[in-house]
Amino acid sequence: MTTHGFHSVDVRRPRLIDIHPPTGTPQGRAGNPRVSKASPTLGHPGKCPEDPALYMFLTDDSASITGMAGNDPLARRYDEARRAIEHIGRACDCGKELVSVIHFDYPAQWDVPPQRLYPRGVRRLRSGLRSDGLPGSSDLGPALDKAERLARQHPEAAATLVVMTDFFLTDRDSRAVLDQLISFDGHVHAVSLGAEPPALLQQADHVTTSMITTRSEPGATAQAVFDALMTYRQCTTP
Ligand SMILES: [Zn+2]
Repeated sequence: MTTHGFHSVDVRRPRLIDIHPPTGTPQGRAGNPRVSKASPTLGHPGKCPEDPALYMFLTDDSASITGMAGNDPLARRYDEARRAIEHIGRACDCGKELVSVIHFDYPAQWDVPPQRLYPRGVRRLRSGLRSDGLPGSSDLGPALDKAERLARQHPEAAATLVVMTDFFLTDRDSRAVLDQLISFDGHVHAVSLGAEPPALLQQADHVTTSMITTRSEPGATAQAVFDALMTYRQCTTP
């Protein structure tokens, strides 16, 4: 089950996350086994869904996001998203769960088309969960248009958007883009980085909002991404 409405991510069992190189370095791309294996804050991944599911990560690489200090948990959004994807990937044996990465910049070289959560697909996703270090745009519109096209190409799959941004959008008509986001035909998880998500999203029924701040525990972003990836998975008691 997913929860609706606004909630701050609460990591119940605080722990320290290993310090490791930022995403984009060779070590970061290869992953750090100490981090990816130890996921005590992430829940049981449950069982694969009966029906196909498509998850699309829309990620903001603008200066207000990437300019944050390396020690900041917000700067680890890609590492934490990767941890959650790997965690689910280890439990997925259905081939019906697809994950895609769409960067706000369009076209973006790190975009990854929908991948099955098998090892090869998870490796592709890992390569796209990074920024090139240059400040990108804060236009959500083009990424959202691309997500809608992908969803149309996979009509068999229930679609979920995971939008990772501070919502300081630079779209010419940001209200219209938020309306477009809300009217997306599927679930929407807004993972708001460092700022409160827009009230419009908090009030929308099928939108789940998480706010990650500098006071959030390390792992809070991974938890929010995990929750999103559990949208259609069947919870089981470990
Ligand atoms: Zn699966």
